[in-house]
Amino acid sequence: TAGPVNLYEARFASGKQRILAIAENLVCPWPDCKVPADRCLVHHIDAHKNGGQTNPSNLSALCSYHNGVNDDGARARRREKSRGRMMRHRSKVKLVTPGRNLLGNTHELSTVGAMDLIK
Ligand SMILES: [Zn+2]
Repeated sequence: TAGPVNLYEARFASGKQRILAIAENLVCPWPDCKVPADRCLVHHIDAHKNGGQTNPSNLSALCSYHNGVNDDGARARRREKSRGRMMRHRSKVKLVTPGRNLLGNTHELSTVGAMDLIK
């Protein structure tokens, strides 16, 4: 496939980046979520407004609900209770809870994404 997958400063993911994000996480990676990746948004793990780049390593499929509750720092500024935020840990996208626990989605499709298949 020709063309960029690292777009750095672009606000939105390209079609190619969306395909990569869906291939990596076949369901939303938030624990216990069942929304299939083809119904998810492409989420910046480090928020674009905080300088997060539009590169595959900083992108993940995430359903619209969990994209909305993911804490990108704005909740602390608004003094709202955090539900945690997504982060990449050892190549997997996981939730960091407010208590600093790392949780992955245990859905059966969470272990057969593209990155799991090439290990
Ligand atoms: Zn979700």
